[in-house]
Amino acid sequence: MSPHGYYHGTLRDLAERVHATSVAKGFDPPSWDNFLAKVALVYTEVDELVEAMLLSINLDDTEAELADVAIRLMSMLHCLSAEFGGWSDGRIVDEVRPMPRFFDPHAVVRPLREHLRGAIKKFRKGERRDAVIHLELALLETFRIHRRLDADFDLVTAIVVKNNFNQERPFRHGNQESVG
Ligand SMILES: [Mg+2]
Repeated sequence: MSPHGYYHGTLRDLAERVHATSVAKGFDPPSWDNFLAKVALVYTEVDELVEAMLLSINLDDTEAELADVAIRLMSMLHCLSAEFGGWSDGRIVDEVRPMPRFFDPHAVVRPLREHLRGAIKKFRKGERRDAVIHLELALLETFRIHRRLDADFDLVTAIVVKNNFNQERPFRHGNQESVG
């Protein structure tokens, strides 16, 4: 039985699906050559998430932005972890650090940002495997944040919903650039 609502595949299968959507829409697959650009795009989504948490009275926006963060990370994990035998598919599941007591969006995303920074640091040292581990821990943080939101459905469902939406969007989402 799946713990992920109506989605019955694994997180890895879902990563393959979101990656296929991205490629079908004309975006470059994540690689070590475009690593920094792809991480920069994760940061962009984290900023959108914080903005949604600060401004939005609509939980759907926040959830959709969180799904964007997860989708970008999953696409990177799908492409970059193959040389290390894949990623752990969310087996590291529970939180080790407490969430901040008051809901401060900047504090809530701080560990996520720290792992993105860690991924960049390791990448620049040529320590690719550790860079991938940081990305995976960043993905784990998205699940922790989601639990904090008290949303109606789980993050995997939100990812499926956002991926379905992305499938209907125009080529490169109407942008010129292919990096994402
Ligand atoms: Mg977004």
